[in-house]
Amino acid sequence: MKYLITGGCGFIGSHIADRLISRGDEVFVIDDLSTGRLENVGGIINKKNFHLVIDTILNISILEELVRKCDFVFHLAAVVGVKRLLENPIDSIIINVEGTYNVLKLCQRYNKKMLLTSTSEIYGKSDKVPFVEGADIVIGDTRKRRWSYACTKALDEFLAWAFFEEKKLPVIIVRLFNTVGPRQSDMYGMVIPRFIKQALNNLPITVFGNGEQTRCFIHVSDIVDALTRLIEKDEAYGDVFNLGSREEITIKSLAEMIKSATRSSSEILFINPETVYSRGFEDMNRRVPDTTKIERMVGFSPKFKIEDIIRDTLKSIQNSEKSGNRI
Ligand code: UDP
Repeated sequence: MKYLITGGCGFIGSHIADRLISRGDEVFVIDDLSTGRLENVGGIINKKNFHLVIDTILNISILEELVRKCDFVFHLAAVVGVKRLLENPIDSIIINVEGTYNVLKLCQRYNKKMLLTSTSEIYGKSDKVPFVEGADIVIGDTRKRRWSYACTKALDEFLAWAFFEEKKLPVIIVRLFNTVGPRQSDMYGMVIPRFIKQALNNLPITVFGNGEQTRCFIHVSDIVDALTRLIEKDEAYGDVFNLGSREEITIKSLAEMIKSATRSSSEILFINPETVYSRGFEDMNRRVPDTTKIERMVGFSPKFKIEDIIRDTLKSIQNSEKSGNRI
């Protein structure tokens, strides 16, 4: 099979590319390297079944050529991370909405199946955990920039539904919950690589608020397993799935685990997030997925525990620092 991965030099996209290449598929990647990195595809870049185009999904003629060539599209290109979206609100909105429109339109034109990656951010500040796919979404004030991300992704989902219903586009939507693992950068605000870097440098580990907020972290390898199995299921097309772990942990305990895994002398510092994200930051207390649908569809059950996730992410950060390639 020939696959196109938009955002294939990114953290999750590059792991999908690795998996497909290793099983002998042909992989095309389009990535503008805004947050993606060439190092992420360093292990496959010279393979003859791997093809990389450095460009944006807003470049419709290049995108069209790629969609035409492939059998299936994994659409991951998007603005990632709370930090980046707070810093670049206009670009974030345009890439997420116009870019996704381009991908949907071309897949429909050339009759290609696709998977749209969405996000747990969609549920906004709903407190009805665990989040079920059909639940209401609760989005904050439009002047708080964080919520623009949830809205752009919700709009992407609306568009995907419209293409599915009106144009019969075979599309699957997957809402990814806090995904972590090797290659994830600390530069865009993601908490695990951020805490690890702080701990390795014996800097204060910056827990926002009182640290009682929780998240469920999933290893990227479990995500790749589930996605590659999901696209094989005909019944999955025209449907939406949560994908994440149900192992809930407070951010305070996460900081303690990372401090001990790194044998760091860092202090754990409780800070107001507004000192880091100057404007528009609002945190969620709990974010837990209901994963019944994907469990039924592909027998999904994450293999990695939080300890494994911390260990693998730590190893990858240490290796990249040794080689001088900052993640
Ligand atoms: N967080 C924190 N310190 C940091 C970065 C993040 O305490 O330096 C917290 C953040 O407030 C949130 C959790 O860690 O409650 C996860 O943050 P992340 O940005 O990784 O993901 P998201 O908020 O999108 O779930």
